[in-house]
Amino acid sequence: MIKLFLFDIEGTTTDINFVHKVLFPYAYNAMEQFILHHQTHPTVMKAIEDTRITVWDEDKKKLALYDVIEKLKEWIKKDRKHPALKEIQGLIWENGYSKNEFKGHLYTDVKPFFSKIISSNKKIGIYSSGSVHAQKLIFGFSTDGDLTPMISYFFDTKVGAKREKISYEKIALETKLTPQEIHFFSDIPEELKASKEAGMQVTHLLREGAKSSEFEGITSFNSFINLI
Ligand SMILES: [Mg+2]
Repeated sequence: MIKLFLFDIEGTTTDINFVHKVLFPYAYNAMEQFILHHQTHPTVMKAIEDTRITVWDEDKKKLALYDVIEKLKEWIKKDRKHPALKEIQGLIWENGYSKNEFKGHLYTDVKPFFSKIISSNKKIGIYSSGSVHAQKLIFGFSTDGDLTPMISYFFDTKVGAKREKISYEKIALETKLTPQEIHFFSDIPEELKASKEAGMQVTHLLREGAKSSEFEGITSFNSFINLI
């Protein structure tokens, strides 16, 4: 019997455009001012240092502060999943959310589905390549209010990559459930394949004309009926 419903974010609970057309450009435009104003903040200092280390390791270049800013902006454009960038982006977004410059996008079927899960005495988890901090911001400052009290677990790539079977096995271990007690929702067939290999049940979210796959697909959580 399923005890935990595990959700991807981008393309599953949230429009991919929100991330690429709202969050990334916001961080890109705010990067310079944010770093200049917060360069003595410990998290920012560490991210600056980590950026310098990576660029030294890869290109043997020493970066001045403005070069670090340009490098982080370049990584946003390339969608590079570097921990330093993720940390800084999380802080910049937190600023934006708390100033009400945008809200975390959720498809309208998400909150009703979450409510149904909770009222069936089952749990909700998130597994996304965005940092746990960024995940909590999307659900905490969402278009449907603060949904974080409904969510029992947040996982990011610290448990491993989303296309690796072992990541899903680790999630099962951390939640003290068997993979067979977990149902995973994603828009990416490779992620569904890995979680299915680990033993989870899976459903493919087909938002806005996405292509179907070998996995059972739904266009909205409203059509997911086998909750019990
Ligand atoms: Mg996705």
